[in-house]
Amino acid sequence: MSCQGVGGADGSRSDGAGPEGLGTGVPAVGPAAVAEAELATRRGPFRIVALRDPSDGREHAALVLGEVCGGEDVLARAHSECVTGDVFGALRCECGDQLEAALDLICAEGRGVVVYLRGHEGRGIGLVEKVRTLAVQDAHGLDTVDSATALGLPVDVRDYGPAARILLHLGVRSVRLLSNNPAKVRALREHGVEVASRVPLLMPARRENVAYLTAKRDRLGHDLPHLDGPRG
Ligand SMILES: [Zn+2]
Repeated sequence: MSCQGVGGADGSRSDGAGPEGLGTGVPAVGPAAVAEAELATRRGPFRIVALRDPSDGREHAALVLGEVCGGEDVLARAHSECVTGDVFGALRCECGDQLEAALDLICAEGRGVVVYLRGHEGRGIGLVEKVRTLAVQDAHGLDTVDSATALGLPVDVRDYGPAARILLHLGVRSVRLLSNNPAKVRALREHGVEVASRVPLLMPARRENVAYLTAKRDRLGHDLPHLDGPRG
């Protein structure tokens, strides 16, 4: 467990917590790659922990509420960056709704972590290519999977190693993961995070996103039992 520095006054740490022992071959997270500070938000006071990941080089963030170091069954979300949904409130996906709901649930519980994963835009293809797939969806009636493959793009290349490294850095012992995606549970476990359970984060379908949600259910294996209509 690595807790030093978390909650410290200067936002620094010195023990270079990293993935050693996980057999990943990824270099440790050094003190220069992590910073943290108090962060007042609309929902109340959180802590922000920023971490430059040694594997992908991107700067990821964790919004932390309460004492999570050494915590078991910590409510947590590993949220994939979505500029359109998270920032601009787009309705064609449910990312923004899920981010808000996760923060609300964490506030209600008084403890938890949202890890915000950069570089996960469009399931890892990046913003330009994601927007290209949106245009292809609209022009040709393709779903989120076929629009990617039609452009020669991978369907999902997200790396959850950074999420694992942040949670381990925070000293979280185990999480209840807010997600509808069983693959995300498997990925975090592969990266050394103990996932005690998965907590569904079911957003009501909208006219604008029901096709997207249905594709996630039927083609990407998401557990979305609240959707109407047959599988497949
Ligand atoms: Zn989205």
